[in-house]
Amino acid sequence: MHARRVTIWLTAWFAAVFFFAWFALGQSGRRVDDAAIRNASKTGEEWLTYGGNPQEQRYSPLKVIDTSNVGRLGLVWSYEAGQGGGGQEATPMVSNGTIYSITNYSIVFAVDARTGKEKWRWDPEYNRVTVVPKICCGIVNRGLAIYDNKVIAPVNDGRLVALDAESGKPVWEARVAYPQDNYTLTMAPRIAKGKVIIGVSGSEYPVRGFFAAYDAKTGQFAWRDYTVPGDPSKPFENEAMRKAAATWDKDSWKMGGGATVWDGMAYDPDLNLLYVGTGNAGPWPDEIRKSNGRDNLYAASVLAVNPDNGEMKWYFQMVPDDSWDYDSVQQLMLVDLNIKGRMRKVIMQANKDGFFYVIDRQNGEFISGQPFVQVSWAKGLDEKTGRPIVTPEAKYGKDSVMITPGAGGAHNWAPMSFNPATGLVYIPSSNGGMGYAVQQDFKYDPARQNMGISFNFGPPGGRGGPGGPGGAAGRGGTNVTPEVAAAAAAAPPPPPAPAPPKGPVLPLIGPPPAEEGGRGQLRAWDPVMQQKRWDAPIGGGIGGGTITTAGNLVIQVSSTGHLLAYSADKGEKLLDINTGLRSSMAPPITYVLDGKQYIAFMGGQGIVQGRGPGAGAGPGGPGPGGPGPAGPGAGPGAPAPAATPAPADQAPGRGGNTAANVIMPKLLVFALDGKAPLPDPVQ
Ligand code: CA
Repeated sequence: MHARRVTIWLTAWFAAVFFFAWFALGQSGRRVDDAAIRNASKTGEEWLTYGGNPQEQRYSPLKVIDTSNVGRLGLVWSYEAGQGGGGQEATPMVSNGTIYSITNYSIVFAVDARTGKEKWRWDPEYNRVTVVPKICCGIVNRGLAIYDNKVIAPVNDGRLVALDAESGKPVWEARVAYPQDNYTLTMAPRIAKGKVIIGVSGSEYPVRGFFAAYDAKTGQFAWRDYTVPGDPSKPFENEAMRKAAATWDKDSWKMGGGATVWDGMAYDPDLNLLYVGTGNAGPWPDEIRKSNGRDNLYAASVLAVNPDNGEMKWYFQMVPDDSWDYDSVQQLMLVDLNIKGRMRKVIMQANKDGFFYVIDRQNGEFISGQPFVQVSWAKGLDEKTGRPIVTPEAKYGKDSVMITPGAGGAHNWAPMSFNPATGLVYIPSSNGGMGYAVQQDFKYDPARQNMGISFNFGPPGGRGGPGGPGGAAGRGGTNVTPEVAAAAAAAPPPPPAPAPPKGPVLPLIGPPPAEEGGRGQLRAWDPVMQQKRWDAPIGGGIGGGTITTAGNLVIQVSSTGHLLAYSADKGEKLLDINTGLRSSMAPPITYVLDGKQYIAFMGGQGIVQGRGPGAGAGPGGPGPGGPGPAGPGAGPGAPAPAATPAPADQAPGRGGNTAANVIMPKLLVFALDGKAPLPDPVQ
């Protein structure tokens, strides 16, 4: 009797302990580990990786919001993301009921995903005076990684920092690179088998591109892969570098070589292969690099490496001997496709160069590639090898040649998405080209950008490319500190004014713009047939991006600040909300909480702290290939000089803002029947 009472008591006690432990575990949340990342996006409940899943498809199986009700989307809450000065390019993450994101200036924040109430905020307080002049194309950050109850954040100044997901306190820190060496970090880190992988930005500077891996739990350095060869008098780091060295001039390393890694990565857990896109060769014209027609490996390529040790398994170079700033870092997407009756494990990219590539991701074999917009730099791709058949006149010299696409690219970092039900890829694509000429008075400067090119943006009224970076805030502006003015003084001088375009007119191939003279479009692309299925005329430019859902929807944030929805199969426009944030837009995500589906994204530019030479905010810089949209207006300072036409890789077209019309950057969250007021649209 007594023994039985003890047994009952013990059973109750153990049950209580078990229940308490289970409850406590529930409170602290589900740990994001390799299995969670592998299964990310399967339920659509959370958003655990930059691309939604390791395959980077940005597809959600959610269908609470669908074609029948998407018109009822409204704002439910917004969060002030803080000071502007760069575009918002980050993809927010959702884990355990919390949204995590990163602003320009690498400030990380966590907010309650139901209410928008801030949980914590962490500012790396980097040295903006010295770091900002080393960021080539806008003060931006594209995102975070989540792993093992940590939020892993890149800092523009070259640090990688893991923050406790609950408290925001730093747990570990790793040094990836130094801005003193002209490197910065802007890309979202990715997780592959317990490692966090990140690459460096800045191919316009004299840098040797690389990406590196760290233990995601401790931050301990694991390995580094360079993308171009270094000093040949020193031993090659590996066989891949030995092979690459034969494809460059012996002195090319003295100007860096470029091929930085600043956006596209994907991971196939089954093949255990990590895929990495590499940036343009530097300086831009092959004439200055003395490459004499050699390929300049591994610039403008996709690399497949073993994430355990960084060993290269295969590579595919999209743009051998690049002369056009055709970074091949755009989103890399992994999909299994039935092509000619055979299931293929493919990797896909809508490249800056205007071609849509489908490649076997097991071995790098070229499957197909067609222009997804009009292009003139190549006449097509070799059917067997995928090597471009370069238009001879596109190898420009001292005279300007109009070449399509321009340096802003046919597709830049704004994410595309893939819907398995329609089999389509939704690409924010841009039209138009740019005049290129080799800079005749080029002089190498180890501390600055060395593009080696004379810009020419084409005739007024020409087909627009993405806008240039626009005028910077000036001395008379409301928000220019002496530090920023000093940084501005260290910035490169503006290049000479463009001359009228002359030279040959290169023939265009590929599907024409959705609208005559249109800047860009959202283009639904069939990757099996390699052809366009439908177009929506809003799109293009640099900024925003897409997701697609099981609700037969494509949700797009446009570079102009609109939230749009289309039916995924036919492209019928179902929603168009002007968010009032008219530029510097980031990609959308979706998640579900308590049965309610949300759409969230960041956007807005806020007050510009420019690095132009201290003049008042001017009109938007001319977009490569056309006028681009004008910047939002004049500032209180002195008139702006010509905006510095930065390479436009990563910078949206934008001008300065004045205190009067500024709407600070925000995280906006929408749901069905949301009733919160939007900011007033800027006039
Ligand atoms: Ca570039």
